[in-house]
Amino acid sequence: MTAPVTTTVETSTAAGTADGDLLARARQQVLEEGRGLDEQDVLAVLRLPDETLTDLLALAHEVRLRWCGPEVEVEGIISLKTGGCPEDCHFCSQSGRFDSPVRSAWLDIPSLVDAAKATAATGATEFCIVAAVRGPDERLMAQIREGVAAIRAAVDINVACSLGMLTQEQVDELADLGVHRYNHNLETARSYFPQVVTTHSWEERWETCELVRAAGMELCCGAIIGVGETLEQRAELAAQLAALEPDEVPLNFLNPRPGTPFGDLPPVEAREALRTIAAFRLALPRTILRYAGGREITLGDLDVQGMQGGINAVIVGNYLTTLGKNPDSDLAMLAELRMPIKSLQATL
Ligand code: SF4
Repeated sequence: MTAPVTTTVETSTAAGTADGDLLARARQQVLEEGRGLDEQDVLAVLRLPDETLTDLLALAHEVRLRWCGPEVEVEGIISLKTGGCPEDCHFCSQSGRFDSPVRSAWLDIPSLVDAAKATAATGATEFCIVAAVRGPDERLMAQIREGVAAIRAAVDINVACSLGMLTQEQVDELADLGVHRYNHNLETARSYFPQVVTTHSWEERWETCELVRAAGMELCCGAIIGVGETLEQRAELAAQLAALEPDEVPLNFLNPRPGTPFGDLPPVEAREALRTIAAFRLALPRTILRYAGGREITLGDLDVQGMQGGINAVIVGNYLTTLGKNPDSDLAMLAELRMPIKSLQATL
């Protein structure tokens, strides 16, 4: 049973004001015409006062229903190779450069197949294999070859991968293996990226995203919110994602991990998180916008408002190094909201 929605959001007073004008313009441009907001308008949305949040979320929900439909895409993720990553993304407890408690480990193929079966049993259509690496080496590619073949032989589910930066050869091989979607996040705005990662560049991430799409795989490219970026940089990121046109954007909210450079940053405040979800929906009207890591700590039971404010996909079960919600409680939330789960047939 999903907990009752409790919020102190006040009734809208936006009508007839500059804020109301912005929402009216967004309604015409995004809802009626299907054109996402530009960076400047996304920033204006991110600056809207709390009093307009109800109207903003309602508009974002209408946009999602109009341009994506009522279905919610469900995905499970599994870590094939955990920890010990040579990169230094300051929010990540899987970096081998920080004093965080995550140990390096590999999963075996039978466990991978079991996880895919368990994911499919929830009604999920996507199963994403993730590895904490800069990019795949031959050992990892061999595991992926074997793992993808074993999953495809055992269970009906789309296989996605997230293996870091890729060469053209690796992109081609993953496409040939039948990998349906590839995840590679931009993480944060180009202008702020050097404050978050120093071991590779934003441009290198962008290049892998371009290679993935050119090879015919679906592109999943997401963000992490609350890593110290300004609202301007958050709007910049939304515009950069819109320019990339990914099929899916997973939205992570920082869950500050002990031992990482961002371990002491405060979690994003709930209303700010909801406003961000709505702003990204208005920038990306047709994109699958997925709840990813951090929603539990940032939103708690208010996550139901995000489902009615632009989100149309969830990750069920645990994340890579942090616990998610119980899949049953997410599925119960979707049932209570009368939001159908997207079927495998609908994704083919
Ligand atoms: S986010 Fe990915 S690339 Fe960065 S440290 Fe973590 S596992 Fe490595």
